[in-house]
This record gives sequence, C-alpha cells and structure tokens, in this order.
Amino acid sequence: MWFLFPGPESFAMSSLGYLWLFRALDMSDEIDIERVYSETKTTRIMRDKIKLIGISFTFDIDFLEIFKFLEHNNYAFKASERKESDPLIFAGGPVITSNPEPYKKIFDFMIIGDGETTNIEVTKICKKLQDKQKKEILKELAKIDGVYVPSENQQSVKKVTNKLSECIYTPIISDKAFFPDTFILEVERGCANRCGFCIASYINLPIRFVEYEKIIETINLGLKHTNKIALLGAQITAHPKFKEVCKYVENLIDNGKQIDMSVSSLRVDSFVPEIVNVLVKAGQKNLTLAIEAGSERLRKVINKNLTEEQIFKAIEVAINCGLSGMKFYGMLGLPTETQADIEEIVNLSKRIKAKYKGFSISFGFSTFVPKANTPFQWFGREDEKFLNEKANYLKKELHKLGIQINISSPKWDYYQALLSRGDEDLTDYLIMVYKLGGKSGAFKKAAKELEINTDYYALENYSYDKKFAWDFIEMKPGKEFLIQESKRLIAQ
Ligand code: SF4
Repeated sequence: MWFLFPGPESFAMSSLGYLWLFRALDMSDEIDIERVYSETKTTRIMRDKIKLIGISFTFDIDFLEIFKFLEHNNYAFKASERKESDPLIFAGGPVITSNPEPYKKIFDFMIIGDGETTNIEVTKICKKLQDKQKKEILKELAKIDGVYVPSENQQSVKKVTNKLSECIYTPIISDKAFFPDTFILEVERGCANRCGFCIASYINLPIRFVEYEKIIETINLGLKHTNKIALLGAQITAHPKFKEVCKYVENLIDNGKQIDMSVSSLRVDSFVPEIVNVLVKAGQKNLTLAIEAGSERLRKVINKNLTEEQIFKAIEVAINCGLSGMKFYGMLGLPTETQADIEEIVNLSKRIKAKYKGFSISFGFSTFVPKANTPFQWFGREDEKFLNEKANYLKKELHKLGIQINISSPKWDYYQALLSRGDEDLTDYLIMVYKLGGKSGAFKKAAKELEINTDYYALENYSYDKKFAWDFIEMKPGKEFLIQESKRLIAQ
C-alpha cells in the first residue's frame, strides 16, 4: 500500500492525522505500507505490487497534487477509467468528510469521519479479498460505516465519530518537518462553540477529550525524544483538565527541564494567568486571538459571542504575563457584514492602542468561505471587488495606526468556496484546471471552456429548501438543525 500525503514531506512530517494513520496501518503485519509525498520520485514498493493507495485530503486545493501524483504514476484520473489491475484508490480527511461530491468520480471509495478505526477495517477487507474483482471488494467496503463507495449508489453514508480512547501523537520526530523536532499530540478533538462558518467544529461534533493521565503519559513519551511539544485541538482549553496539564508542564520546567510547549489556539476564556504564564515560560512568544469580526453584532451573528471587555481582559493578561504583543485573526465578507462592521475593526484597534500604549497588535484576515455541512452553507461569498475594497480600506486605516495586517487572497478563497460547495459536475472541470497548470488563470479558462458557472457554487445564496449534493452524509446535528441555527444566527 502507498499512503500519499499530497504535499511536501516537511508538511507530512508535521501532519498528526497522516502520521498517526500511517503508524496504525504500519503496525499491522499484514500490510506492507510506504509513505509517499508530492516530491517522491522512486519508491521502495514497486508500482506493479501496489494494491491499495490511501490519500490524506486536508485542503481543497490538494486535488492538484493528487492529480500530479496519479499522472506521474500513470493512473487514469477517473476511477471508471482505471484498469482492473490498478490499485483501489481512496481518500479521507476533512475535505472528504465535509463534501466528497466533487471527487465522486475520482476515488474508488472515500472515508467519511474519523479514520482511525475505518482505515483498519478497510485495509483488512482489501487484504482478505485481494484476489477478487474490484467490484466485489467495493461491495463489501460499502457495508462498513463511514465508507462511501460512489459506484454502489448508497442512499446514505454515516459519518464515523471515534471515542478518543488513546492520545494520538506524531510517531516520527524529524528535523525536516515544517515544525522541526516537534512532538505533536492531540488533547481534544472538535470545538463545541459551533461558529456558523466553522467546518472544524461541525464535522467534529461532539467535542471529545483525551483522559488527563493519557495526555501526561504521552507528554512524557515525547519528552524522552525532544523538548519541543505541541498540544493540538480546535478548542484545547475546553479540556476540563487543561490547567492541570499546564501545571504539570510548569512543574517540570521549574525543576530544571527545558521544555518548549506551544498550543494550536487559545479561546478568549483561556487567557487566564495560570495558562498564559506557563505558555510564556515554555517559550510561546506569540498568542493569537480569533476575534473573527470587529463588531459585537457580527460576532453574535457568527456565534462567537465575544465582548470587547473580554478582548481587553485577554490583552491585560498577556501584558501581565510579560508579552509585548498579540495577533488577532478575523474574517472579511461574513454574512450580513456591512461597512460599519469593517469600520469597527479600525475603531477597536484605536481603542486598544489608546488603552494599552506600547502593546503591539497585528491582524490576519481571511475571507468568508461557505463550507458544506455548516449553518452558513446557504450563504454565498461576497464579490471579489467588494472584498478587495474592504481589504484595501483596512490596510490603509490600520497602517496609519502602525498595525501590521495580512489578508489571504480573495481569489483563492473564491476557488475554495467553489470546491467546498461543489458537486460531481465539477470532475472534468477540475481535471482541466490541473491540465492547464492549476494557477488562477487555469480555473477561469477551464470554466469558460466547459461552460461551468463557478459563481453558482461560490457566490450564490441558496434557499433553505435546496437539496445539496452532500445531503446523503449522515452527520449530527443534521440538516434541520443547521437550517434553524442558520436562521437564528442571521436574525441577530
Ligand atoms: S471557536 Fe474557533 S474552532 Fe471553535 S467553532 Fe469557532 S472558529 Fe471554529
């Protein structure tokens, strides 16, 4: 089996999900598995011995690297055009769980939800039936929860949600990794906050926590090999024992152990001295607070419910813990956003500057991308022209205040939206985009050539009674809840 990470090896070496699944499969005596990356030119296992190819699909744009890999290894892009002697090719990951439909004709099957148990079951069946026809194997695979086999016309596919019975970690520590020599471990999965746009929250409900003892055991395991530890989770500080975990690490540091510890994100309610102090002691230099929007009204619309008072309190904790600055993260083009909301970002910055002299702040912005299976899946993106106007206004006004600002490309966010609300009609389009070089011009040219209305996927507002291509995925809390939640949020 080849296990593909569609990106450079350095990213793969910092990808907890990819490395952990590799470990789980590699531990089975029955499977000979090899990791392959975008730049892999030669492999240990020869192409003609490969029976199965698994692909980790994390970002929408990864499809370009996946096509590159298929082309390089001489496999047809569409499952129906591959030979019986070709391996079964499957993919899993957040992109697939949220909406597998744009890739329906590419992969033989896909994994919906958490992959730990499903991948093992799948490989066992493929091994057992390896001498059978592909059709027969796929028929069996379609019986497993969380396995979507497009050729089997399943009426529904249930998303699999694993219990976090163990603490998963990066089994390889590499100096070539994007985060060099860092041991990454998962403390919790999901986020209970359910922001209206947030796919990381909705596809990982309900939030699950790893037991405290297992976290400590895993931290100790990591510390045997490196002093760099990264704790991962979308709402890490919601862990009921997170403060105790911090205390444990603090004690080690106070007893002379050198530890660099970082966390993936902090929510405002975790900007408390007990936590921030330890992170600063453990070398974390920058703290980021995702405020998402400048005005309290818009923060309510997205379900962030973060008050200005809480933002000020977080800054005060940062200052008291010895930090000289903080980064804020936000989004432009959110549903119902007006110029007044944008101006509030500038006004808030002015108030911070006036209140906390000498404390430096910076901003990072992306633009709203509607994601399938979230309450905001019905809302289209704002036109690029208006987003650019907002971005330019913010750049100008924040620069005047001496505040650094970074904004993601609205053009690429547009294509992300196209993919995230895409359907099977996009298959030939995606193939053509790849063949035309995969740059932004290729997306435009292929759309013109194949008469694909990309605005329909990326910009249009949909009515609540619209049937989506991805409705067949059974995922809690379910579409009816998403409709009610969407209406509730938008009415704020
Ligand atoms: S708090 Fe962050 S991770 Fe949680 S739902 Fe909101 S955006 Fe997503």
